Amino acid sequence: MKYISTRGSAPALNFEDVLLTGLASDGGLYVPETLPVFSQAEIADMASMNYVELAERIVAPFVDDCIAQDDLRTILQATYAEFRHDAVAPLTQVAHNQWVLELFHGPTLAFKDFALQLLGRLLDYVLERKHRKVAIMGATSGDTGSAAIEGCRHCDNIDIFILHPYQRVSDVQRRQMTTVVGDNIHNLAVQGNFDDCQAMVKASFNDKAFLPEGRSLVAVNSINWARIMAQIVYYFYAAVALGAPGRPSVFSVPTGNFGDIFAGYLAAQMGLPVERLIIATNRNDVLHRVMTTSTYGRQALSHTLSPSMDITVSSNFERLLFDLYDRDGATIAQMMQRFETGDVSFSDSAMARARRLFSSQCVSDEQTCAQIASTWENCEYLLDPHSAIGLKAAFDSGLSARYPVITLATAHPAKFPDAIQQAGLSQAVELPLHLRDLFQREERYEVLPNELGAVQAFMAANLNA
Ligand SMILES: *Cc1c(COP(=O)(O)O)cnc(C)c1O
Repeated sequence: MKYISTRGSAPALNFEDVLLTGLASDGGLYVPETLPVFSQAEIADMASMNYVELAERIVAPFVDDCIAQDDLRTILQATYAEFRHDAVAPLTQVAHNQWVLELFHGPTLAFKDFALQLLGRLLDYVLERKHRKVAIMGATSGDTGSAAIEGCRHCDNIDIFILHPYQRVSDVQRRQMTTVVGDNIHNLAVQGNFDDCQAMVKASFNDKAFLPEGRSLVAVNSINWARIMAQIVYYFYAAVALGAPGRPSVFSVPTGNFGDIFAGYLAAQMGLPVERLIIATNRNDVLHRVMTTSTYGRQALSHTLSPSMDITVSSNFERLLFDLYDRDGATIAQMMQRFETGDVSFSDSAMARARRLFSSQCVSDEQTCAQIASTWENCEYLLDPHSAIGLKAAFDSGLSARYPVITLATAHPAKFPDAIQQAGLSQAVELPLHLRDLFQREERYEVLPNELGAVQAFMAANLNA
């Protein structure tokens, strides 16, 4: 399988190389040149598969001959053995024809574990064969760094450096990162804010000379193709459990960078009967504005009760645009260049295509808390704020009269106690068993000044892999 760039001029890559590459050299994102398509009979057969078996079925064509089938199976088994629920991605019913797909049973209690647990292992496998070692660098405002760290804890060929703003992340968030044990894990508390951290990561990717020769820097942010690939699996898993291919389903997806819902779009392209994909956003509603006004435009960032969806641009949306414009890379390149300096409007035909499968809704903090409270009242089920946004949009769509509607529950409520408190339900939150001793565990992190030189010097001196 070959991967091509959405901007049309970077070289095509195989799976192995795409794994190690973030942005394409032309600034675009990599997508598969063609997609595997499953017949209705093949999808019906998936009903008998457990999560790992299904993952192998879905992932194998994307990985192609870069990873031997037996090795792929071993990697997938190890990945999903880290999840603390036998079904890996269980469905819970919360109302008539309304289902919640629980994606928070991984080590850090958020859906990002599905992709990052796999990505770490895939990278390590490929690096081992190439006799290479890399450093991963990333910045976090607190809510997503732990998934990347947990994903790398067993990797022999990777050092991971995650920058967070010193004293500006919550205790639970910091401890989820700093109590992970491993010589290759490096938590850097930078005496600045999140934007400072992000700027340092960006500067380091632009000039990697601070690392010793032969060490490259790899990004594991949400544009990495392997992350999207891993997320396709649970769309099939849930839909088949609720009657696919005989019965089409609707998915409501709490959306930020458009990675998760793009995986749902790919599932539909691969033959899964999907009636509708609902883009559920918080007040940072760039995608809802695209869907309702056909215009892609930046607005100032708002801080909400669902911080993992606080974004101003939605990086993976470019992958959908590429298809909406008949995979014309030159057009996408021009459009994204114009977007650097101003708004971009999309053609009627592109938007008509998008609206055939996608709809959208923007949900306020007040509505989020109201949804958390009403779901608790109706069935004693506690939602996290991101999942609540999805469920609110699922109810408002009215589609459950005709289809099973599946909301992706992207995080465990214990991760976001502020929202639960505002919904008046503090007494209902409990950390899952394996995290109850989080506050007794030893922490390891380095406090560094808000200076690029200090951060880079620390990294160069602490490569342990
Ligand atoms: C990252 C994240 C999202 C948004 O997913 P995208 O792929 O960026 O759209 C939603 N909820 C939670 C809890 C997340 O961590």
